[in-house]
Amino acid sequence: VRYNVTFSRVTGEEVDGVLLCFTDVTHLQQADKMRRDFVANVSHELRTPLTAILGFIETIQGPARGDPEAQQRFLTTMSAEASRMNRLVGDLLSLSRVEEEARMRPTSAIDLDQLLRSVLRNLETVAEENGGQFLYDTPDVPTSVTGDPDQLLQVFTNLIENALKYGGQGTQVSIKVSFVARDHVLRKPALLIAISDNGPGIDAVHLPRLTERFYRIDSHRSREMGGTGLGLAIVKHILNRHRGRLQVESTLGQGSTFTVILPKK
Ligand code: ADP
Repeated sequence: VRYNVTFSRVTGEEVDGVLLCFTDVTHLQQADKMRRDFVANVSHELRTPLTAILGFIETIQGPARGDPEAQQRFLTTMSAEASRMNRLVGDLLSLSRVEEEARMRPTSAIDLDQLLRSVLRNLETVAEENGGQFLYDTPDVPTSVTGDPDQLLQVFTNLIENALKYGGQGTQVSIKVSFVARDHVLRKPALLIAISDNGPGIDAVHLPRLTERFYRIDSHRSREMGGTGLGLAIVKHILNRHRGRLQVESTLGQGSTFTVILPKK
């Protein structure tokens, strides 16, 4: 615990007393450290692809000057690195937008069944590339919620895309919607949307930190998969704005289930 102590005299000429004021600044210092860590992380994440691009430019201008085949190879890698920077900047903007709107309650009426179907349609190509498969049946509960359609689309896109990416080749991703009369944390009726994969699963030590910005279990693998390390942080912030929450359960060797819990008025 850190304290700031301010020391002041109570009257002008004659000293009647002294006022000692203790202010607990632990949270302020923690917030400040988080902000500094975030800036350092962003700089590092942007610098890595940028350094690679600069290196390839030098090679194309130098040793590979007369080798069109090598130049093509380097250009392809440069393009992939530039796309990575582009995705990172996109995710940073999403995160800052969600934080900015944190206090504004979203008000649109949304049919989650329709929304999930459009996410699955958008991700069909990704599933084909991974040999993955979706298992989704029309829910047998009413699926209307109040929210921000673009943001909820992003939540389910991030989670289902992660299930495909980290589940490995041929993953089965099941999406199940159910209703509970009272969620024990929200203390309200809620819709549960459980996204399960039969991939390698996640070690329990990582679970509490998964939604931290830039937290990855295997940085190399995440980067290879095109991850920015911000996907689950964005999910968490969007769900906070919707007064909902994310629950993660996983068993090594068997798979993971990410459950979105949204209040149902
Ligand atoms: P990234 O951009 O790296 O995918 P995320 O915030 O979406 O970042 O996810 C954080 C980390 O959580 C990932 O790097 C990955 O290691 C792990 N992860 C996320 N979803 C799954 C999943 N379905 N199965 C296994 N690991 C996962």
